Amino acid sequence: MFIIDFDDTLFDTQKFKQELASSLLSLEIGEKLFWQTYAEARILSDGTFSYSFERHASILEREGFDYKQVLDNLNKVKEKIKFFLFEDAIYFLESLKESKQDLYLLSLGDENFQKLKVEECSISKYFKQVFFRGKDKELVVKEILAENKDTNVFFINDKIEESQKIKNDFQSIEVILKQAVTLTEEKYKKSGLKYFKTLTEIKEYVTNELK
Ligand SMILES: [Mg+2]
Repeated sequence: MFIIDFDDTLFDTQKFKQELASSLLSLEIGEKLFWQTYAEARILSDGTFSYSFERHASILEREGFDYKQVLDNLNKVKEKIKFFLFEDAIYFLESLKESKQDLYLLSLGDENFQKLKVEECSISKYFKQVFFRGKDKELVVKEILAENKDTNVFFINDKIEESQKIKNDFQSIEVILKQAVTLTEEKYKKSGLKYFKTLTEIKEYVTNELK
């Protein structure tokens, strides 16, 4: 079975966020203000994920911008969401499906916002179950392992520390990192985990492992 992360693993979240930032430039909302207010919209002080276009627009309204205009611009990016899947993501999911493996998707963050992204990308159909809850990944992995007795378990994720923790807690899982363009190769080497640049390379590796 495969447990697969959504953001920055299947979906180019960095590029998507950059597109959100660009969508507000015509309203004279610069990058600096975008990222500042994005951070505020994203998470509540108690750690709960909270991002929505409405919440971000309200925060910008407080900064003197027109709520409706901001919301309209952000909503226009909604129609483009599917284009931010990594170009080989569908091929990757199709290939894993063909190998008769159970796939689980972890899309943690604000539930409604994560749902919006996953639905716009039309990828739910590949998964036995999709987890949107904003709780930590270990708990979800634990839950999946409790119900699925497949002994070949791959966990595919982009974040190094988070993945190392999963590997520590669940030794039998094979953890594979999808490299981010923002980090040096050295960081991945040091992680002690397998890592690849593309989903296609990951697909080739796991297909061999499953033989
Ligand atoms: Mg991720």
